[in-house]
Amino acid sequence: MKSDIHVCADWREVHGRPVYTLGDECPACGAAAVNSAPAPFGPEDPYGDYRRALKRRDRE
Ligand SMILES: [Zn+2]
Repeated sequence: MKSDIHVCADWREVHGRPVYTLGDECPACGAAAVNSAPAPFGPEDPYGDYRRALKRRDRE
C-alpha cells in the first residue's frame, strides 16, 4: 500500500502551517484533507497569472 500524505485543505487560514495526515480529514479541524502533491500550477511562479491579472486591472 502506498502512503498518501494529505494536508488540511484550509491550513493557510486555520492553522497558519501545513497540517499533514494519512486520513481524509484534518485531525486538528476536521476539514477535508487533500493530496499534498503540488497543485498543477506553473512550477516557477505559481501566482504569476494572478499577479498579471491584478496588474492588468490596475491599468484599466
Ligand atoms: Zn485543519
